[in-house]
Amino acid sequence: MKEKNKWLLPLGMWLVFETIAVTLWLTKNNIFYLFNFSYIGTSISLGLLLFRFNYKHARRIVQLLVGLYMLIYLGLICRENMQIEGFWYYLFTGVFEAATIHYAVAKIFGPLIFGRGWCGYACWTAMVLDFLPYKVPLTPRKNLGFIRYITFALSLAFVAGLFLAHAGNIERIMFLAFIIGNVLYYASGIALAYAFKDNRAFCKYLCPVAVFLKPMSYFSVFRVVCDKEKCVSCGRCSKICPMNVDVTDNSRKRKNGTECILCLECVKECPRKAL
Ligand code: SF4
Ligand code: SF4
Ligand code: SF4
Repeated sequence: MKEKNKWLLPLGMWLVFETIAVTLWLTKNNIFYLFNFSYIGTSISLGLLLFRFNYKHARRIVQLLVGLYMLIYLGLICRENMQIEGFWYYLFTGVFEAATIHYAVAKIFGPLIFGRGWCGYACWTAMVLDFLPYKVPLTPRKNLGFIRYITFALSLAFVAGLFLAHAGNIERIMFLAFIIGNVLYYASGIALAYAFKDNRAFCKYLCPVAVFLKPMSYFSVFRVVCDKEKCVSCGRCSKICPMNVDVTDNSRKRKNGTECILCLECVKECPRKAL
C-alpha cells in the first residue's frame, strides 16, 4: 500500500467523527459533545493508523482507550447509564442527551457507515472478553441468537416498569442498574466464553444491543470484501473470524454478515492480500 493511502481511512473516519462532534456541539450548544466525539474519533483513527502500519495490538489499544473512557469516566464518574436501559430511560423522558445520542451515533445510525465497528473497537464489555483465551472460537456457532431478543425485551420491560410504577429517585436506580448490569454482563460473558470456548459467545447469543446493530450494519459502507481474482479459497479468513462470517462471499446476505465487528483479523490472516 502506498504511504499516502495508509492515511486515507484513518483520516476519513476522523472526519466522520469530527462532523458529528461539531454538529452536536453547535446544535446542542454543549461543548462536551465536541470533546466526547473528538476523543472517540481520534482514538479510533489512531487505531486504524496503527493497523495500517501493521501494529498488531492496534485494535486493543482503541478498545482500551474508548472502552475505559466510557465505562469509568462517563459511566462511573459522570453517572451516565450508557447501557441499553439508559437508552430506554432517556427515550421515555423525551430527552435527546447522553445515552440516546450515544445509541443514535454508535448503535443505530452510525452502523450505516461503520457497521459494527462499535463492537470491534469501543464496547467495554468486549474489551474484557477479548482478553480471554478463545480469540478464535473452538466450537461451532450455536442457534442461540434468539436469546438476545429476550434480553432486549427484558431491558425494555425493566425501564417501562419503573415508569409505570412511578418509581422514586429513578436517576439513582439507573446508576445502580448500570453497575449491576455491567457485573451481570461481565459474569455471563466470561462464563459463556469458557462454556463455549468462544470469547464472543456473549455477543453472539445474549447481547441485547445487537438487536439494533445487526439490521443497520447490513447496509454498512465500510465492510470487508474479497477480491476474487486474488483469492485462492484457502479458507484461512473464515477460520480465524471470531464472529463466523463467511468472509469470501461478497453478498450483503452472506452468512453471519451482520455479525462482522470489523476486527480485520481476516485481513491480517489472508496470505494473498485479497481482503
Ligand atoms: S455485541 Fe454487545 S457486548 Fe458484544 S461487542 Fe457488541 S455491544 Fe458489546
Ligand atoms: S475476521 Fe473479518 S469478517 Fe470476521 S469479524 Fe473480523 S473483520 Fe469481520
Ligand atoms: S484467506 Fe485470503 S486467499 Fe484464503 S480464502 Fe480468505 S480471502 Fe481467499
